[in-house]
Amino acid sequence: MKASEEIVKIKLGEEFRICPQCGYELGFHSSFLRSEGGYRIILICPECGARYDVGWRM
Ligand SMILES: [Zn+2]
Repeated sequence: MKASEEIVKIKLGEEFRICPQCGYELGFHSSFLRSEGGYRIILICPECGARYDVGWRM
């Protein structure tokens, strides 16, 4: 498993549980990426390592 460098921007609908890349259905890990003025919350697929930015900031 290799985490891709690319972070895909996702617009959240009702639920974001299935990885668009590989179809993994059991949800995501999360990580926090430092950016201007705080952190971006990045969701990571445990199966394929795809990374998604759903627009959450903290
Ligand atoms: Zn995946």
